[in-house]
Amino acid sequence: MSTTKKFASQADLEEKKVTFSQISEHAWAYTAEGDPNTGVIIGDDAVLVADTQATPAMAADVIRRIREVTDKPIKYVVLTHYHAVRVLGASAFQPEQILASQDTYDLIVERGEFDKASEIGRFPRLFRNVETVPDGLTWPTMTFTGKMTLWLGQVEVQLLQLGRGHTKGDTVVWLPQERALLSGDLVEFGATPYAGDAYFKDWPKTLDNLAALKPAALVPGRGAALTTPESVARGLAETRDFISDVYASVERGVGAGHDLNRVYRDTIEALRPKYGQWVIFDHCMPFDVTRCYDEVTRYPDPRIWTAERDIEMWKTLEG
Ligand SMILES: [Zn+2]
Repeated sequence: MSTTKKFASQADLEEKKVTFSQISEHAWAYTAEGDPNTGVIIGDDAVLVADTQATPAMAADVIRRIREVTDKPIKYVVLTHYHAVRVLGASAFQPEQILASQDTYDLIVERGEFDKASEIGRFPRLFRNVETVPDGLTWPTMTFTGKMTLWLGQVEVQLLQLGRGHTKGDTVVWLPQERALLSGDLVEFGATPYAGDAYFKDWPKTLDNLAALKPAALVPGRGAALTTPESVARGLAETRDFISDVYASVERGVGAGHDLNRVYRDTIEALRPKYGQWVIFDHCMPFDVTRCYDEVTRYPDPRIWTAERDIEMWKTLEG
């Protein structure tokens, strides 16, 4: 590389176009050309929102779209995982309950403050109204382990932990009656999976568990909503391929005795032809390869990212 890449998404300042579309009888997708998505379930008597956007200012646009199609109260916010860019807008919805897995709660306790500082540095455009975020962290008011079922009138909504992948706390929202799935960052479409907190060995198996539900429609963490079984299968397969390709390349490099720098250079060049056109590819790869190298060598659990560690890593790998 002859030019130095700007850290993470600091060069990404272009506004995205929002789409709010119905994907099944009760499920809607708020998407924005590869920015973090929000899933919305409009039940008989209440609305559930899965992932909240980065700030209350950004969440206000989600609320505006919801109010164009329903006046039912927004009772539930579900956090599919702990990342600040999806969590810190929660207060805008004034929900009765904020639901998350106990594993996600534990991650907020352990590393929520570090992640908040780190993500604000990585995503200046998404956090440009960071002053609207209340002090402190967003805390779940109810947690579960494995499975929880909510009834929005006659509409059954399952919160499921189907394995670790993007984080150890990953939760999906499943509407069994209409086979609609909100996957959080376990599945991306046309967007690079962020794997800085990931479990590379588990993630493909978890995707198999998602596929076993046979979703007819899926809202990924980033990218366009998938509204046919074929496009859902494609989203699952492409995410699985990316994770497997990173892992295979890193494992090969470690096996050959290469250091992290060499493994990073080899992996990004090997993957660029296939995945380089996905949004946030250059942002994610240093984090993804660093975490994968850790997992292959000596850290079964992801090490905590801090704003300082972010910059140190970037300098080491990108100069
Ligand atoms: Zn995430």
